[in-house]
Amino acid sequence: MPPEDPLLAGYRRFRTSVWPGQAQRYAQLARRRQQPTTAVIACSDARVDPQTIFDAEPGELFVIRNVAGLVPEYAPDGGCHGTSAALEYAVKVLKVRRIVLLGHARCDGIHAMIHGPLRNAPDFLGPWVDIAEPVMWPMPEQGSGEAFEAAIEDAVLHLSLTNLRTFPWIRDAERAGHLSLSAWQFDIATGELQPAAPANPRQP
Ligand SMILES: [Zn+2]
Repeated sequence: MPPEDPLLAGYRRFRTSVWPGQAQRYAQLARRRQQPTTAVIACSDARVDPQTIFDAEPGELFVIRNVAGLVPEYAPDGGCHGTSAALEYAVKVLKVRRIVLLGHARCDGIHAMIHGPLRNAPDFLGPWVDIAEPVMWPMPEQGSGEAFEAAIEDAVLHLSLTNLRTFPWIRDAERAGHLSLSAWQFDIATGELQPAAPANPRQP
């Protein structure tokens, strides 16, 4: 007998343990379009789930995840920009009141930006991690170790915050007081959430 599919096993636990207590909430959510007030941009890292970290209910968070949780600059050039499209949907259609950047310590994506091998996957991943080039260059030749990587992680978070403000409808909504932007770092090892360290993007 083949081993049970872990996803289906999880679904069965969800249906028997979680669904009964949430069925009414899901029924309410199904009667209208989603109305989250917060968008979270996070890394796709399997260990850093915003829904879990913020103990959020279904329907509460509009979550955008990608490799390293990066935000590109505003570039309406006709290309397929998944993160930018999700941001446009969150701000213009859902009219979220806050955007939270959720970085995390020990990010494999950022580790790979520094040490490889992500740059060996050039079709999409190479150009994507190049978003972080402004903080990766010039990079100290002696850069290595956890402290260095943590500094890079902070710098990348600040870069994403800066890039968020290159989107005119985000910048305008923030200036009008309709939208707040914040950046936090989550440490997988300790479970602690901290505001992003002060910006110092050129000197990691
Ligand atoms: Zn990551």
